[in-house]
Amino acid sequence: QFSTSDTLNNLPKQFFASLVKKVGKYIEAGYDVINLGQGNPDQPTPTHIVKKMQEAAADPANHKYSPFQGHRYLKQAAADFYKREYDVTIDPDKEVAILFGGKAGLVEIPQCLLNQGDTVLVPDPGYPDYLSGVALANAEMVRMPLREKNHFLPDYNELPSEEIERAKLMFLNYPNNPTGAQATKEFFQETVKLASLNEICVVHDFAYGAIGFDGEKPISFLQIDGAKEVGIEIYTLSKTYNMAGWRIGFAVGNSSVISAIELLQDHLYCSIFGGIQEAAAEALTGPQDCVRELNNLYEGRRNVLIDGLRSLGWNVTAPKGSFFAWLKVPKGLTSTEFTNILLEQAHIAVAPGIAFGELGEGYVRVGLLTSEERLEEVVKRISQLEIFKN
Ligand code: PLP
Repeated sequence: QFSTSDTLNNLPKQFFASLVKKVGKYIEAGYDVINLGQGNPDQPTPTHIVKKMQEAAADPANHKYSPFQGHRYLKQAAADFYKREYDVTIDPDKEVAILFGGKAGLVEIPQCLLNQGDTVLVPDPGYPDYLSGVALANAEMVRMPLREKNHFLPDYNELPSEEIERAKLMFLNYPNNPTGAQATKEFFQETVKLASLNEICVVHDFAYGAIGFDGEKPISFLQIDGAKEVGIEIYTLSKTYNMAGWRIGFAVGNSSVISAIELLQDHLYCSIFGGIQEAAAEALTGPQDCVRELNNLYEGRRNVLIDGLRSLGWNVTAPKGSFFAWLKVPKGLTSTEFTNILLEQAHIAVAPGIAFGELGEGYVRVGLLTSEERLEEVVKRISQLEIFKN
């Protein structure tokens, strides 16, 4: 038995690994579990993308190592995607880094930019993997509260000014996991100002960039004047094209951060399989009907769930984007107590808010990751719970 490094020992617990295990036990025991806990898209990758991969896999040119830092055509596809979707001009040679999924970039960036003891502003509640990169860089996090009364946007006036002055990095994520909130242009403008004044690098995680409801298309951080000077955006194909298993995404924006990511990656791995890169380029530049259809699918599911829960007298807020609903726990229970009741009594798996930070307490996150019929079944099972009966 070898002892492990302090860095490894300091890593935060991987909450979802234990959730998956616990839910797995109920499934193995034969229960009909409706699993809305982990954020795993339930739809397949569109067929034209899979077909491209199949053709590319047969091409011997892809059987060799891919070039370090990835293929130029994929960087060009990422730039074309940003121009088409957001009217943002990106230099494919200097402002795009190809990533092994968004998570890799999010974990790599703190290691690229921070020294031991540097501080990072991290949303609370927030996607837990921001903390992984901070811990690997031996840096420290400062929580940035996301409150319902502010539509889950941080109020920078609430943060002590010395913490803002000290911070080197800030993570933001809209549409937001776990709260389902969307950012406004004004909020992003305020962020660019703050970051520029205090020399903070902003990392905007745009994982749910394609999922916005009620006709509100999510805005890219890079659409804001001056954003490229202060930050980067992480885009993943996992959610937009149901490609979570493929592990492909990219970072776009500030060229000094992009070259730092590429340097670190040169030391960690050779680039991604060429077949996946060809399929990713096809996804970004090929037919986009699948994206609109997916957005409509999630919106329909959201409506079924939210309307159904409201019909039970549960006062829930409808998400504006992402594929999560962030629900206030009823009856004064803790998020863990309520999660356990749902799993044990209704065989519904959700994620307790506390897994996303201290301010997540009092909420549960429910993934819109099954059919409308199954979501109707979720509402029915909840209506039969003892705690909802009076
Ligand atoms: N960022 C957020 C907010 C997420 O919810 C996820 C995945 O669940 C990711 C990033 C990572 O996506 P991937 O590593 O699959 O690209």
